[in-house]
This record gives sequence, structure tokens and C-alpha cells, in this order.
Amino acid sequence: MTAKIARYFAERRPATPCLVVDLDVVEENFKNLRKALPDSAIYYAVKANPAPEILALLARLGSSFDTAGVAEIDMVLAAGATPDRISYGNTIKKEADIAAAYARGVRLYAFDSEAELEKIERAAPGSEVFCRILTSGNGADWPLSRKFGCDVAMAKSLLLKARDMNVEPIGASFHVGSQQRDPKQWDEALAATANLFRELEADGLTLRMVNLGGGFPTKYKKSVPTAKQYGIAITDALRRHFGNRIPETIIEPGRGMVGNAGVIQTEVVLISKKSHNKDERSWVFLDIGKFGGLAETMDEAIQYPLVVNGRQGTPKPVIIAGPTCDSADVLYEKADYRLPEDLAIGDKIEILATGAYTTTYSAVAFNGFEPLKAHYI
Ligand SMILES: *Cc1c(COP(=O)(O)O)cnc(C)c1O
Repeated sequence: MTAKIARYFAERRPATPCLVVDLDVVEENFKNLRKALPDSAIYYAVKANPAPEILALLARLGSSFDTAGVAEIDMVLAAGATPDRISYGNTIKKEADIAAAYARGVRLYAFDSEAELEKIERAAPGSEVFCRILTSGNGADWPLSRKFGCDVAMAKSLLLKARDMNVEPIGASFHVGSQQRDPKQWDEALAATANLFRELEADGLTLRMVNLGGGFPTKYKKSVPTAKQYGIAITDALRRHFGNRIPETIIEPGRGMVGNAGVIQTEVVLISKKSHNKDERSWVFLDIGKFGGLAETMDEAIQYPLVVNGRQGTPKPVIIAGPTCDSADVLYEKADYRLPEDLAIGDKIEILATGAYTTTYSAVAFNGFEPLKAHYI
């Protein structure tokens, strides 16, 4: 936790649960990514955290933006970015939304199917398009790809088809999976992409852009490589597979841009056991759970570090759960979480690295709980 966030909690004592994001950390992440991959354009994946303060900061720093719908496009435009810095990267778009994006000046679209390509041609004629290819998602704590992308053979035929349509095929994209802790995972995807480029070149279609996706991690309980290490691995893979014809590249960091910038403060609502059996683990119920913004604890995939201040007791294994009346609202039962044995009802706990994929995942009013409050400082 940064000194700025610690001071905010100490001085302002905001009502819990709430997220506090240190914008200086976002700026530092942006600069580190830019330094790690100086030849890549950065398209911030807006879905990770679309707060106006974050979008305005990144717009000012020169970032571009990966968006998934018209509402996100409008938020980016309101933050001061121009439409030429926006990619409509969702491969699943209503035709009316494509038309709305086109009317706002957006000219870069993703697709992974013939039907989507036809929608883009009709609703956004003349636009640049790129085809998303499938990746394995190996090595990622939050894999994405089964749902998105097509295989390389299909990508090849779709890009050739696009050439004969009223759109401009410029390249290919992939996403190696979110919270990708292995920088080498870009290698396989880039090998496939380079093959695709060569095959299309033989058919007379020259592509110029590779969208390297997101996947840059945030440090949770396990340690992760630095942005610099990702930069080295990706640059090596580009050289290995494209030789002296390295294409334009873009990256779409979401989690890696904002995850470590935020801290959620929560309060212990109840500590209890289910029987008089002394060996049983205690249940610790917090005032935030899966429906309050911690959806990525699904299958205990993302394991946030927890900090308890002012308790010196021996850490004891616990089960951690949220406050709602849904039995799915358990955060950690299999993962090894320990909290001080003198933890008490009313204590505050800080959940670290919660700047990404929290506020927007928060339910509107499940059990009457309000959406997660957030403060950007
Ligand atoms: C979600 C998403 C990202 C961001 O992924 P992170 O792992 O958070 O960096 C990037 N690109 C696309 C197309 C996405 O859907």
C-alpha cells in the first residue's frame, strides 16, 4: 500500500467497504510499460477500471484505449481522447453499436467470425479490421481465450475475405490470458501469427499490425515478473519469428495498468464456527464479497493479499466469506489464508492490489448492498 493511500485511510476514515486508487501508481505503470515496450502503442483496456480519473490521466499521458462497447467509447471521448485513439476490440458487437461507434469516428474494429466481419462492413465501411486468433491461455490465472478468437486457418480465410470487402484488414490479435505469469507465453502466439502473416503474404495480402493483447500481471500473493521482463521476452519473440520485418505492435494492458494501484478497505462483520469442534477453522465474514466487487475470487482464481493492522496474534487458517445471503459468496476456502487469532469483529482489513476488475463487477443492489464506493487520489 502506498503512503498516500495509507494517509487517506488514516485521515479520511471512509466508510467501508471502499476502494482507494493511487493515480500516481497508474502513471508509474503506464511509464514502465512504455519503457518495457517502447515500439508498441498502448491501448488501455478500459474494462479493467473505467473511472473518469484513470481515463483522463491516461489520455493526458498519450495512451490509446481498447473498448468493448459504446458506453466505454463515450467514457474515453469524455476523458479527452480522440476517436483515432480508440479500438473497438470486442469481437461480439451489435450492428447498431458498430454504427454508433462509427458515427463517433471510431475506425478500428476486431472480429473473429465471418458474420461479425459482415456487420463491420455494413455499419463501419472502410474501417481497419484485425482478426483475433485463439491461444491456449496456458500459464494464466484468468484465461480468456476459449470464448474469443478463431483458429489460424480460419483467420487466414477471413482476412483474405476482408481484403475483397469494403474494410481494410491490417493485422491480427491475440490475448494470452489475463494475469499471465509466464512472459514466454507470447512466443507461441507470435509464432502462429508470423506464420499467418507469411501465408497471407504469399497470397498477396500484406499485414502490418500485431495486437499483443493484455495479460500483464499484478502482484497478488504470488510474485510476478516485472514489466521489463515481459518487454524482453516479447521483443525476443518478435525478432525470432518476424526477423527483420517486425510489424507495428500494440498492447492492451488492463490489470497490469491499474491492479496494484488500488486497495479495498473492508470491515470484519462476524467471526464464527459451525460447531464446538476446536479444530475447525473459523469463518471470517467481511462487508465485501463476490457480489461487492471481488468476482475474480471465483474458483479462488485471483488471490488477493490481505493486511490486518494492529493485531499481533498468531496467524490461524480461516475461511473468508462475504456478507450476502448466497452460499456462492465465499471468497477463500481452499486457498491457504491465515488471519491473526486475536482478530475481532469490527477490525479493518485491507485487500491489496484491487484496482482492476472490482468496481464494475460490483452488483447494483444484491441484498440491498450498494455498489462498491471508490476514491481516486
Ligand atoms: C480484457 C482485455 C484486455 C485486458 O486484459 P488484462 O489481462 O487485464 O491486461 C485486453 N484486450 C482485450 C481484447 C480484452 O478483452
